[in-house]
Amino acid sequence: MNTELQGIGMTSQRTRMRLVERLREEGIERFEVLDAISRVPRHIFLDEALSHRAYEDTALPIGHQQTLSQPYVVARMTEILMEAGARRVLELGTGSGYQAAILAELVEEVYSIERIGALHKQARERLQRLGYRNVHLRLGDGSQGWPDAAPFDGMILTAAPGGVPETLLKQLDEGGTMVAPLGYETQMLTSITRRGDTFERHEIEPVRFVPVLGGVVR
Ligand code: SAM
Repeated sequence: MNTELQGIGMTSQRTRMRLVERLREEGIERFEVLDAISRVPRHIFLDEALSHRAYEDTALPIGHQQTLSQPYVVARMTEILMEAGARRVLELGTGSGYQAAILAELVEEVYSIERIGALHKQARERLQRLGYRNVHLRLGDGSQGWPDAAPFDGMILTAAPGGVPETLLKQLDEGGTMVAPLGYETQMLTSITRRGDTFERHEIEPVRFVPVLGGVVR
């Protein structure tokens, strides 16, 4: 992260630490995840008019009928990927870029796909300003995955696909884990781990995400 932005980040450090404390109380246990949340300036990923709410544990709008997910959900999904030992992670739904930044603090490479051109461009600018070099962004339909960078040992879907996305599962490495909100309206956060030709599924907790949509908006 560059020094100028570190300076801006310092002004929000206290509220950020309160958020970390709250996430700990809510059951987030892994030190490295809480540490990443304490380091990434969430306010940079929001419009200025909303930046004073950046460290509330709540989802916030990012335009185009989309949201930046609730910090608890970001932390929980990240924790699941860390427990699974993920190092190369594919994200469906870049949105603001915040989840990608959290992952970039913790894993070797992040590949993140967004279907809305304006969000993709804005996320790219923010992540570049913050100095992340291990995040690769693509404008496209994330449900097709990123075949030329596959296989991945971690996948995170930050929009709800309804059913299990078979095309993405094919790009999951042996032992790799996908974490995804499955279902319509309200969904069940689910982890799916590849074991040879079978996939082990664990239901974690109910969540609410925007749906995966088809087609690219340029
Ligand atoms: N991870 C994001 C963040 O940190 O801000 C929040 C993601 S928001 C809840 C869901 C995102 O998924 C939206 O930006 C939406 O445009 C995107 N999305 C929905 N369907 C998609 C698809 N098929 N391919 C790529 N992105 C998609």
